[in-house]
Amino acid sequence: MSLEDKHDETKAIRIQAERSHNREHSVPLYLTSSFIYEDAEQMRAAFADEIDINIYTRFSNPNSDEFVAKMCALEGAEAGFPTASGMAAIFASFAALLKTGDDILVCRSIFGATHTLLNKVMTRFGITHTYVELHDTANWEKYIKPNTKMLFVETPTNPGVEIIDLEWLGKFAQQHKLILNVDNCFATPMLQKPIEFGADIVVHSATKYLDGQGRVLGGIVLGKKELIKDVYSFCRSTGPSISPFNAWVLSKSLETLSLRMERHSENALKLATFLEGSSEVEKVRYPFLPSHPSYAIAKKQMKMGGGIVAFNIKGGLERGKRFLDSLDFCSMTANLGDAKTIVSHPASTTHGKLNPAEQLLAGVEPGMIRISTGLENAIDIIGDITQALERSK
Ligand SMILES: *Cc1c(COP(=O)(O)O)cnc(C)c1O
Repeated sequence: MSLEDKHDETKAIRIQAERSHNREHSVPLYLTSSFIYEDAEQMRAAFADEIDINIYTRFSNPNSDEFVAKMCALEGAEAGFPTASGMAAIFASFAALLKTGDDILVCRSIFGATHTLLNKVMTRFGITHTYVELHDTANWEKYIKPNTKMLFVETPTNPGVEIIDLEWLGKFAQQHKLILNVDNCFATPMLQKPIEFGADIVVHSATKYLDGQGRVLGGIVLGKKELIKDVYSFCRSTGPSISPFNAWVLSKSLETLSLRMERHSENALKLATFLEGSSEVEKVRYPFLPSHPSYAIAKKQMKMGGGIVAFNIKGGLERGKRFLDSLDFCSMTANLGDAKTIVSHPASTTHGKLNPAEQLLAGVEPGMIRISTGLENAIDIIGDITQALERSK
């Protein structure tokens, strides 16, 4: 049976680890730290990389292999390596593919921990970065130095839900011989496939939509075979590998990814449309709202708008915190991409370590609220947001 010509929904369900002699329908959990050999010759060949079999769970395991196989099929990647978290994936993609003296061109609107990784960790190893503004692509060329090796972006961005033109990015990276590394966490391959536009590497926090139920941490680095070879050997020697249990959960989660992304997107569009009509709200950002500055680009590269909506509440920082305190069932928590609707206030939390000027550059305004729209009934989500807007006045 070949699944190559099948659609994403089918691949996400039907790709699975080879059946054992027990003829299981659903893939079992392989809780084993190592694997045995038929004889000493097979063991030698395995260690010499002459045969491709599991050796040790830090390197590979049937559960993590299955998760990788599904993700490769969905993203259109040649290879991948799964990690214990999204940050481990991002770190591995930097550390494995760059060396001391290299510079990363980074879009300033990125996840808070990625900022910290670049500023506090990578710099200690002599890997520097240059921030570029998303709206200033016309001038990006000016920031390319002889040692610029990688271009790292998120689209849609966290938390401002800004959009970068992937087709343009792919050409720009190729023209300047940069490794294009895209954090595809917000869209997932069900809505957007950066590799189709020329991305060399795609990283994910699987903790978010890929799991989708707030249960496990995980990450993955995907891309061209020759690049992933370096990521593999970096990870094999440094040990950020995913646990078989988390990989097993994530493989199961992928079976419902397409359905979930559709519902997240439908609910988010309803919520964004409602917010745009509210007198308590200043600016709503959602890729599939015609008022989004990059609406046309979003429509071109995304199948649907995704689950994240950002808006500015009138009254700034204090009202933003009051709004969170006024919620009835929507959760106040650090995660996103969960079945449960999650509301956060980036200026006082995830981006709280940046000074106000840096916050504005990262697209974080004091009254900005980020909603990760869940899978509850849209009427109930909008109901909770409505009453919290009232009560926080
Ligand atoms: C959460 C997140 C990460 C980090 O992932 P973890 O699994 O928490 O380590 C990276 N990028 C984006 C866009 C995220 O939202």
